[in-house]
Amino acid sequence: MSAIVPRLVSVIVTGDELDGFTDAAPTSHLKVFLPADGQDEPNLPRYTPDGAVFADEGPRPVVRTYTPRRYDPATKALEIQFLLHGEGPASEWARRAKPGDKLAVGGPGGRFSLEPAAGHWWLAADESAIPAVGTLLDALPETAVADVHIEVDGPDDEIEFAGPAKTTVTWHHRRPGAFGAELAGAAAAAVIADGARVWVACEAAAMRDIRRHLLRERGIPAAQLVTRGYWRAGEQNHPDHDYGED
Ligand SMILES: Cc1cc2nc3c(=O)[nH]c(=O)nc-3n(C[C@H](O)[C@H](O)[C@H](O)COP(=O)(O)OP(=O)(O)OC[C@H]3O[C@@H](n4cnc5c(N)ncnc54)[C@H](O)[C@@H]3O)c2cc1C
Repeated sequence: MSAIVPRLVSVIVTGDELDGFTDAAPTSHLKVFLPADGQDEPNLPRYTPDGAVFADEGPRPVVRTYTPRRYDPATKALEIQFLLHGEGPASEWARRAKPGDKLAVGGPGGRFSLEPAAGHWWLAADESAIPAVGTLLDALPETAVADVHIEVDGPDDEIEFAGPAKTTVTWHHRRPGAFGAELAGAAAAAVIADGARVWVACEAAAMRDIRRHLLRERGIPAAQLVTRGYWRAGEQNHPDHDYGED
């Protein structure tokens, strides 16, 4: 594990079974299986036509959703970036991770496909989606213009992004506990070009407020909008397919 900034750490996963991650689309996700308390490696499920089946004996692994930040096929090294947000078992595992620790990954999954013809992008994300924003900015062409808004606890959480697009990043510092409020403010104030693609990923309730605003008050067509709840305040292991379309 190495720190990118104090609260965002990079974990490099290696193993012969990682072939195929080259196909991960921007903002796709994977399932991370982490050892349960007292175990050195996670117990893994058996996959059947009806889904994953865990053995009755032995503790179940901690299963969480993360972004394949980048994959190097030459070394079969997969980078996953974990936000150290506090009390969750995955955050806690990453805080303590050291060379030789074992985990398993499954995926990638997700339904995002890049629209290469889109000239303008408006992105809003919190820290948990910084890795996903990184994958998107890596993939946008140099003809694209990206207006990126990221909400973080404070200046220590800010990172550098690379990528060929003409990108402006605005960092918003959160009022304590007000998850997503700064992003909602950024959405309300945003000048979003006609036809722009909009991508939002943050706390699930905040995402819904932003989605409602963009659809109802700004009239942005749903087809131009991807919104994702990456976690929900007070809930463990929020589902990986919360697009706020309910
Ligand atoms: C598609 C997708 C991709 C994701 N990619 C990444 C990624 O690359 N890196 C990353 O760090 N996260 C990512 N996440 C978010 C991550 O899955 C959640 O933050 C997850 O809950 C972390 O698990 P945990 O065991 O640490 O906490 P959990 O056991 O799930 O939750 C424990 C407590 O912590 C709170 N909590 C969870 N996440 C946060 C947070 N971000 N900030 C504040 N409180 C929180 C919960 O509300 C709960 O009260 C992604 C989520 C999705 C859906």
